[in-house]
Amino acid sequence: MGLRSVEQFKEGLRDGRSVYFKGQRVADVTGHEDLGIAVDHVALDFELAEDPQHRGLMTWEDPQTGQPCSRYYKTPLNAEDLLNRREMIERSTRLGGSVVLLIKEIGTDALFALDLVAGQVDQRHNTEYRQRVAAYHRHCMEKDLTLAVAQTDVKGDRSLLPSQQEHPDYYVHIVEERADGIVVSGAKAHTTCAPYVDDLIVLPTRAFGLEDGAFALAFAVPVNTPGVKLIASPFGSPSPSRFHHPVSSRHRMVDTLTIFDQVFVPWERVFLKGETQFAGVLANTFVEFHRFTAVSYKPPLCDLLIGAAALMAQYNGIEKASHVREKLMKLIAYTETVRGLSRAAAHDCRVAANGTAVPNIVQTNLAKYHFASNYHQAVCWVQDIAGGLVVTGPAEEDLENPDTRGYIERLLGGKKGVTTRDRLGAFNLVRDLTASDFGGYNELLAIHAEGSLEAQKITIYRDFDLGRCLQLAKEAIGAA
Ligand SMILES: Cc1cc2nc3c(=O)[nH]c(=O)nc-3n(C[C@H](O)[C@H](O)[C@H](O)COP(=O)(O)OP(=O)(O)OC[C@H]3O[C@@H](n4cnc5c(N)ncnc54)[C@H](O)[C@@H]3O)c2cc1C
Repeated sequence: MGLRSVEQFKEGLRDGRSVYFKGQRVADVTGHEDLGIAVDHVALDFELAEDPQHRGLMTWEDPQTGQPCSRYYKTPLNAEDLLNRREMIERSTRLGGSVVLLIKEIGTDALFALDLVAGQVDQRHNTEYRQRVAAYHRHCMEKDLTLAVAQTDVKGDRSLLPSQQEHPDYYVHIVEERADGIVVSGAKAHTTCAPYVDDLIVLPTRAFGLEDGAFALAFAVPVNTPGVKLIASPFGSPSPSRFHHPVSSRHRMVDTLTIFDQVFVPWERVFLKGETQFAGVLANTFVEFHRFTAVSYKPPLCDLLIGAAALMAQYNGIEKASHVREKLMKLIAYTETVRGLSRAAAHDCRVAANGTAVPNIVQTNLAKYHFASNYHQAVCWVQDIAGGLVVTGPAEEDLENPDTRGYIERLLGGKKGVTTRDRLGAFNLVRDLTASDFGGYNELLAIHAEGSLEAQKITIYRDFDLGRCLQLAKEAIGAA
């Protein structure tokens, strides 16, 4: 097949999957008033692959079949491939109103990591995981599948290993091994896009001890597999008003509590089973690809924050004030540092033994850390420039009501020549991005998605070549 249409994608989601939203089982996610917004948002991926303006970037020709396929499925072999991948992610996020699509990005991050690590496991344990991963990768590419990745377990007591937890289901684990496959139970949290993708890829979330063999698992299953139950989070639910919520009324991500209740996985979809010493390696390798995805999709949101702040400054007549220019300059520096580091991470990639280009780990993590640790400060600059009407302005209905419209239009004007409606629209944009349910979602997304701040700090310290600097210091003092 190679490439699917939007309709084929949506048809694939009407498969009896078990999705719950606000206490109700959802019969069809594509027609659901809230989840349907997320489905339409991610459908952009399929539209871009057909659009002559974007097709060249979003697709590539599979050398084995000569068929056009989604470029996400192309394993990066060099810096150019990584730069194309980052551009594809940045562009689709920008066209998606600053909200990443993530229906192929995260899944292919997992496939690249699985291929890399499966080779190492096979060598050590005489297994055949790499062959299975390759077959699954081809299956996803040829069927143009969409994928979510369930890595983060619910974890219970964070200080304990899985086998020490009060409840075994705090980490996904094997409950039965059969001739044709395994049966798994447990739960993962925060699985983005799970209700509206075809398959789930499950990965270990951390390094395990030798006694945690039952938890050292990687596999893939279709979302409609019996026993897979998704409880979708309502947070970030949009209001239908495009005026009040210019971004989130049309663009949205949905995350789930992902339950595995005695789920059967056939052997050909099992990619790690009990090789505990590779659980941490796989978790980290996935994260290295996935943080590169993260820092590729962050800049469009930052650009929109800069634009919203600059627009507010113009509409309020403060664009020449020195403190406003300084804040805009800091927002630009913040954004371009993330963008520049993500490009540098592609340029300075390393090619692993299996031929896959891995983005530079220190630069990727620096970009993610810089983004996440300064995000709330960036929001503060935008809100400071915008002013209090961000949260105290009138409703759209008051602008429609003839009793109140005249007052609002006359009294809430800004700089001459700017309509009150446009000025209120700019306030609404700032509120939607920074002070709404969606704005709060973005703050949590910044801090925790793709790993919490401490994870990036540990990685930067671990991967930075400290020895080189120590040597310089020794040479400077003439030490032995
Ligand atoms: C919007 C969003 C989307 C996401 N999408 C996905 C997804 O698609 N797939 C997926 O698998 N995951 C996803 N995640 C999960 C994300 O990777 C985690 O939120 C993140 O790794 C933190 O894990 P946690 O939420 O369980 O918090 P915790 O791990 O509980 O972290 C909270 C705090 O506890 C600290 N902490 C945790 N354990 C320890 C310890 N042992 N010792 C000391 N300190 C500790 C952390 O450093 C942090 O400061 C998403 C998260 C968000 C917010």
